Amino acid sequence: MPVLHNRISNEELKARMLAETEPRTTVSFYKYFTLDDPKAFRDSLYIQFNKLKVFGRVYVAKEGINAQISVPQSHFATFKTVLFSAHPALEQLRLNIALEDDGKSFWVLRLKVRERIVADGISDETFNPAQVGEYLQAERVNQMIDDPNTLFVDMRNHYEYEVGHFENALEIPSDTFREQLPMAVEMLQEQKDKNIVMYCTGGIRCEKASAYMLHHGFKNVYHVEGGIIEYARKAKEQGLPLKFIGKNFVFDERMGERISEEVIAHCHQCGAPCDTHTNCLNDGCHLLFIQCPSCAEKFAGCCSDTCREELKLPREEQRARRAGRENGVKIFNKSKGLLQATLHIPEPKK
Ligand SMILES: [Zn+2]
Ligand SMILES: [Zn+2]
Repeated sequence: MPVLHNRISNEELKARMLAETEPRTTVSFYKYFTLDDPKAFRDSLYIQFNKLKVFGRVYVAKEGINAQISVPQSHFATFKTVLFSAHPALEQLRLNIALEDDGKSFWVLRLKVRERIVADGISDETFNPAQVGEYLQAERVNQMIDDPNTLFVDMRNHYEYEVGHFENALEIPSDTFREQLPMAVEMLQEQKDKNIVMYCTGGIRCEKASAYMLHHGFKNVYHVEGGIIEYARKAKEQGLPLKFIGKNFVFDERMGERISEEVIAHCHQCGAPCDTHTNCLNDGCHLLFIQCPSCAEKFAGCCSDTCREELKLPREEQRARRAGRENGVKIFNKSKGLLQATLHIPEPKK
């Protein structure tokens, strides 16, 4: 019976990874294609990846595969052969290699079968996520952005759009991708004869969105290959003018990569030009919002007077106050009003 899951403790695995001397390459990839038996595909891939000491997260679903992994450098060529021959749809798949990564982000291989690789809330059985729009690379993105017959549509969240987006791109104002899909179809109903270019951070969301638009009768649907990350990389490499203004928001310590010098967002507290996201320092809040250096000083890194006061309380009392509060990811949304002093009270359900 082959080993299909790891059986060693997390601490032990992490220690082993840190003790490794061989450098690892961090790579991510995804592909929409139809898998009839995700479980069998997953098991076979697990055995092969495990042999190559691949670490990281891989999701497999009937609609495809999505992975963020690290591979020991000496195994990288073999890994590519394994991946490219795992399914005809994966042949010569585009791999995103993380250049700034030290390869130490993962220490165990987790390969899971999921309902979807990107949650979409679509229940329509006839929808085929593998039927995607046309890929656009940097050069064509730049050509199309100046074309009056083309609409760029941002499929990310508000806080991402807020700090940076393609010139004149349309925002689909919802906090979740599931809500954005039907909303995009509705908002663009009158624009069916136009070219629709969808984009997101790394390409996985906009690619599905392009399939959804095609499914709803849109004819000229495109999406930016590899998303903003790949666009910026290619445009710089090829010396093309950058048509993306501001920052590309990403969830790492930097909270985004600056692409152009323009600062298009504002401090959520005083309105000064600023595009630096931060999390409220109060452990009972952690709201994600934009704060300028002078407000950071004034509010001691907090989102409100309430949080700043709470942060001054003894640890025990802070903990007591936190108990019983709703704890989810809180993200400031400009369209929903100014920062409230009572942020901890969940908004009433509409
Ligand atoms: Zn400010
Ligand atoms: Zn706060």
